[in-house]
Amino acid sequence: MNENTLVWMRRDLRLHDHHALYQACKTSKNVYLAFVFDETILSKLPEKDKRLNFIIDSLKEIENSLQKKGTSLSILKGDPIDEIPKFCKKMKISQVFTNRDYEPYAKARDSKVASLLKDGGIDFHTFKDSVFFEEGEIRTKSDTVYKVFTPYKNRWYELFSEQGANISDYKPNLKSLAQLENKKSITNKDWYKELGFISTPSVLTAGTKEARKRLKVFADYIQNYDEARNFPAMDQTSNISTYIRHGNISVRDLLRAGMEGTTNGHRIWTSEIIWREFYQQILAEFPHVQKRSFKKDYDSIKWIGGTKEFNAWKSGQTGYPLVDAAMRCLNETGMMHNRLRMVVASFLCKTLLVSWQKGEAYFAEKLLDFDLAANNGGWQWSASSGTDAQPYFRIFNPYSQSEKFDKEGVFIKRWCPELAGFTGKKIHDPSKADMIEQSEAQCTLGVDYPFPVVDYKHKRNEALEMYKKALKG
Ligand SMILES: Cc1cc2nc3c(=O)[nH]c(=O)nc-3n(C[C@H](O)[C@H](O)[C@H](O)COP(=O)(O)OP(=O)(O)OC[C@H]3O[C@@H](n4cnc5c(N)ncnc54)[C@H](O)[C@@H]3O)c2cc1C
Repeated sequence: MNENTLVWMRRDLRLHDHHALYQACKTSKNVYLAFVFDETILSKLPEKDKRLNFIIDSLKEIENSLQKKGTSLSILKGDPIDEIPKFCKKMKISQVFTNRDYEPYAKARDSKVASLLKDGGIDFHTFKDSVFFEEGEIRTKSDTVYKVFTPYKNRWYELFSEQGANISDYKPNLKSLAQLENKKSITNKDWYKELGFISTPSVLTAGTKEARKRLKVFADYIQNYDEARNFPAMDQTSNISTYIRHGNISVRDLLRAGMEGTTNGHRIWTSEIIWREFYQQILAEFPHVQKRSFKKDYDSIKWIGGTKEFNAWKSGQTGYPLVDAAMRCLNETGMMHNRLRMVVASFLCKTLLVSWQKGEAYFAEKLLDFDLAANNGGWQWSASSGTDAQPYFRIFNPYSQSEKFDKEGVFIKRWCPELAGFTGKKIHDPSKADMIEQSEAQCTLGVDYPFPVVDYKHKRNEALEMYKKALKG
């Protein structure tokens, strides 16, 4: 049995069903836990980043549990490449356990840490935890990567059955946690100040307790998910993405919830979890997608949309009510419903003709659940440059999307209150309202709400030309 093991926590902020922690507790006398505020990541964030609240609150929940067990979480800040080896030396650690992170930056960082630790005689072990099947596991018969979702999903289920349809639960024996003398609680520290950020009110309650509560609530309507998931105003998706992103809950917890029932709702929801895994493996196997199109031909598109259009999109002032409502919701809450992500992404690329990379970067800055693989996959799908993308000539009509998925304008009115007086179809396209209708609605176009920043029909044709030209050349 090893003497001292460090579990380095990253995007797995929980104490249950945790693969690295489980293995550490099984094989070591004293297990230490540490989290590093990575300055390379933090330096790129705005000073009022709501994700920092979520992380700090998650760490506090963990710390509160650890304190009850006579131990504590070590919080470090700096570059993990320096901090982890330094901590190991100080605490006489002989091995470091961590759960694998498949993002290119994380992979490069981990390999540097591993090599420095090796030089100091310390072992570095990584474990599969954040996905059920990872890169290299789901392969075609000719041993290639699946580039289309449905066959990937079919193989995912096949392999799941072949392995006994068993969802492991990595329950760590927390009795192995190192008992610490003079433990100082991290919970009272002003982490925002320490890290050079400004604290803003939390928009979500972070932590495992809340994540479990959400799953429990969702269990009451998961059977309707196949239908209800498309209607933003109904708010009937699980709203669990920020929790899985930060690891307050495990992917196995989600799969257990999805496989608990046999309704269409259960089935479709489980397949969303598999979409998440699909995009994780795409990023891991094709890291070029981080900067460029999955399908190389699409890199030659000359995006002709300008700053005016991009700024209107970002601020929710395009004159297209559903797009504006969605963007205002994102700006205020850090969240956006999946249907709306597809609508605004398609609108940016195929109506405003602004590159998907710009939209992707804006989402990355704003989304609480920002995940490089899922975000990139979603944007490339919308721009048709991705793996299993919709064909480029299929362009979402923002008006019909609005009429179909927010028929009564309930979501629109929530985020664009200046449009609340419009009724019928005018809520979806107020630019069609005449002066009398505008006066009755108490909303003057061009004053209270903008005219459409571009003409949809005209731009649709331009988009088709733009794509056609790039793909021919
Ligand atoms: C342009 C665009 C950008 C996106 N960016 C992100 C992102 O940064 N982070 C993120 O987690 N999801 C992203 N998604 C996927 C999806 O919109 C969100 O996962 C979902 O809206 C989160 O809400 P929920 O937890 O209620 O999801 P539910 O509908 O309840 O689904 C359950 C879980 O399945 C996973 N999931 C669902 N749909 C997808 C999908 N299409 N791709 C990958 N995983 C999925 C998520 O982990 C989600 O929490 C993006 C989609 C698009 C079109």
